[in-house]
Amino acid sequence: MICVQKYGGSSLASPDLIKRVARQVISQKKRGKDMVVVVSAMKDTTDELLRLAYQVAKEPPRRETDMLLTVGERISMSLLSMAINSLGFEAISFTGSQCGIITDSRHTNARIKDVRPFRIEEELAKGKIVVVAGFQGVSEEKEVTTLGRGGSDTTAVALAYALRAKECEILTDVDGVFTADPRVVPQARRLPHLSYEEMLELASFGGKVLHPRSVELALKFRIPLAVRSSFSLRQGTLIKEMGKVEKICVRAVACRKGMAVLFLTLPKVKGKGISPIFRSLSDADVNIDLLSKGEGGGIALSLRREYLPSAERVLGELKRQGLLDNYSVLDGLASVSIIGSGIGENPGIATKLFSALEAEGIKVGFCSSSRLSITSLVVEGAAERATRILHRAFELDKAEG
Ligand code: ADP
Ligand code: ASP
Ligand code: MG
Repeated sequence: MICVQKYGGSSLASPDLIKRVARQVISQKKRGKDMVVVVSAMKDTTDELLRLAYQVAKEPPRRETDMLLTVGERISMSLLSMAINSLGFEAISFTGSQCGIITDSRHTNARIKDVRPFRIEEELAKGKIVVVAGFQGVSEEKEVTTLGRGGSDTTAVALAYALRAKECEILTDVDGVFTADPRVVPQARRLPHLSYEEMLELASFGGKVLHPRSVELALKFRIPLAVRSSFSLRQGTLIKEMGKVEKICVRAVACRKGMAVLFLTLPKVKGKGISPIFRSLSDADVNIDLLSKGEGGGIALSLRREYLPSAERVLGELKRQGLLDNYSVLDGLASVSIIGSGIGENPGIATKLFSALEAEGIKVGFCSSSRLSITSLVVEGAAERATRILHRAFELDKAEG
C-alpha cells in the first residue's frame, strides 16, 4: 500500500527535526507501507534564496530564479534520505525532474501537465523509501521549473494520484485546518473535516495551510487529503467529498495581505472594450482576483501586489495604443473572506459581515461573493483585526450545531 506524506519547511527546520521525520517515516514503513515522502525546503531557505537573488539583480530572470529556488528542496531531500539510511533503512532521493513531474514552461508558477513516476515505482519495488523534492518539475523543453510558493503540497497530491496511493498526508506545523489562522486568531478551532470546495476557497483566499492547486487536484481526482501536525499525534483535518449538505453556515475566515486595486477608465470612442486588456494582462502572467465594472466605463481589478510592476507595464502600453484612457493604483490593502457552502447567496450573511466590520470602524472596500465565499478589501493594517472581528461575529469559536 502506497502512502504519500509531505513534510513542510518548519518540520524539517534543523538536523534534529530531519532525524525526527526520518524516524516517523520509518515507523510507517515498519507497518508495511510503501513510503513516498515529499519535502519542502528547510524553514526559511526559499525566502533566503530569493533575498540573495534580489541582492544581485533588480528583476531576477524567472528561469534563473527557478534554478536557484529548487536548491532548497534538494538540500532537504538529500539530508532526509541520508538520515533514513543511517537508521538502517534504504532510501533514495529524487528531484522533481528525476521522478517525472512534467510541467508547462511558466517559470516560477508552472502547472503540472503529467506525472511519469517510473523511477519511484522501480525503487518502491526494491523496498526503498523514496524521498522527493517538492515544488519543482521539468518542462518539455527540459528546463527546471517551480510550481509557485507553497507548491510542495501540489507535488504530493499529483504523486498520490499518479501512484494510486491509498493515503496522502500533509504534515505541517499546526494541528490541521482551523476556522482561521491560529496565529492570528487564538480562539480558532480545528475543523475535523472540510469539503474540497470549501478548502479550495479557503486556500485561494489566503489560508496558506494548503497550496490552492493541491486542493484543485485533490478535488479533480477525488483524493482524500489528511492535514495534521508533524509534531504531535493529535487528530487533524480530513478534506473529502462531503455529500449534498443543504445547511448554510460560515465555516472559516481567511485573510490575505499584500493586495492592490487598479482602477481603469476605458476610452469613450475607438475603444475595443475590456477583452484586449484582459488578454494582455493574462499574457503577462498577471493574475486578477476580483473584478467590478461600473456603468460609466470604469473598471476596478484587484490583484496581489507582486503583480503590480508587470500590470503597470502592460497598462502603460495599452494607454499608448489608445486601448485604455487612464489607470490608477491603490496599494496597501488586504482581503478578508468568510467561507462556507451557500453563504454567498445569502444576503443576510453579507449584511452581517459589513455591519460587524463597520461597527468596529473598519471601512469596507471592494467586495465580491461566490456561492462559497464573501470577500471584502480592507486597509492592510486592519487585516488581522478584521479577521478576529469576523471570527467573533460568526461565532466560529463555538462547535458547529
Ligand atoms: P508548511 O511549511 O508545513 O507547508 P505553511 O506555513 O505553508 O506550512 O502552512 C501552515 C501555516 O498556515 C500555519 O502555520 C498557519 O499559520 C497558516 N494558516 C493560515 N490559515 C490557516 C488555517 N485556516 N488553518 C491552519 N493554518 C492556517
Ligand atoms: N519551499 C517552497 C516555498 O517556500 C515550497 C513549499 O514550501 O511548499 O514556497
Ligand atoms: Mg506550505
